[in-house]
Amino acid sequence: MKGTLVDEQKFLVRERLDALFRVVVEAGYAIVGPRRQDDAIVFAPLTSADELPAGVRDAQKPGEYRLSESASPRRFSFANGPQALKPLFFAAHEPLWESTHDQGRLSFTALKPTGERLAVIGVRACDLAALALHDAHFAHDAHYTRRRAGALLIAVNCSHPAATCFCASTGDGPVASAGYDWMLDELDDGYLVQAGSEVGRALLARLPTTAASAEHSNAAGQQRAAAARQQRRLPGRNLQAGLFAQLEHPRWTETAVRCLSCGNCTSVCPTCFCNTQLDEAALDGTQAGRVRVWDSCFTEGHSYIHGIVIRDDTRKRYRQWLTHKLGSWHAQYGRSGCVGCGRCITWCPVGIDLTEEVAAIVGENA
Ligand code: SF4
Ligand code: SF4
Repeated sequence: MKGTLVDEQKFLVRERLDALFRVVVEAGYAIVGPRRQDDAIVFAPLTSADELPAGVRDAQKPGEYRLSESASPRRFSFANGPQALKPLFFAAHEPLWESTHDQGRLSFTALKPTGERLAVIGVRACDLAALALHDAHFAHDAHYTRRRAGALLIAVNCSHPAATCFCASTGDGPVASAGYDWMLDELDDGYLVQAGSEVGRALLARLPTTAASAEHSNAAGQQRAAAARQQRRLPGRNLQAGLFAQLEHPRWTETAVRCLSCGNCTSVCPTCFCNTQLDEAALDGTQAGRVRVWDSCFTEGHSYIHGIVIRDDTRKRYRQWLTHKLGSWHAQYGRSGCVGCGRCITWCPVGIDLTEEVAAIVGENA
């Protein structure tokens, strides 16, 4: 089990961050972490600590995301970018099988991911919580479990949550509590490092760390407390009864007038897992295959059942999203499907704010 034991904190000076990369690569992992690409922070392959976005800050609000530079040497002083770990393990386009047609002979091949061992650095607490939900949902999915097996997760506690974050109110952050191999707190001169698994403990012994000082622990404690003071919140952790009592609330119709049914919120949401399967064929008839692609409760086809589209307007689709995510998810998974990452607020092109919508429907304190 990962991240449930209280381990001793170690300290790694910033100048030795490359040693962390070296230890992880020597252990056989390919590293993925935050990089600045197309004016957003995204998870992408990394070969050295110098590629981490030093001094980059972000400003997020409903429908808006901006990056800026600062002189800070810190490499993780931003909040979440548009995607969490979801695309790394639940691929947006997953080939399942392919068939070839050659001179009247058909052959079929089952396709599997390569099984590359991935280390992800910079994982946030909310994304670990979302990953735990996907681990439960995809427990018997061969493609997900093959990608996920053996992944090394290096969490970094948030020091600069965005204005759209509300993980403190869902209980999923800003401090990682489970599911990590290493947990880092970034300070001005380096990193507090704590192992959370047997693999993490073994690798930590190879890092050039020193014992953490009381000053370092105090600074991390203050930073964690400050990060927990967030502007947004949900009215409660279980909104199932409150939402289902308000299925005819006029707010659903008002929000549907603004909502474009674009599905951005479900694409960026780290817990949304809806998918569909498509057949793709070469025009010359020699090759065909089946792929699994992300789907969304905002698409018309997602609620199509035998000649009928069940949710035939945006009001029904938005209501389905919220009542499932924050309501019936409790019956399925024993918790809400929202980890408070705030992505659906930032990346909604018309700035619809889930926390505002819920408060309008169930009240400020449900
Ligand atoms: S519903 Fe919104 S805030 Fe909640 S986990 Fe999904 S994207 Fe993040
Ligand atoms: S709530 Fe926003 S992001 Fe989601 S479908 Fe509607 S317009 Fe798109």
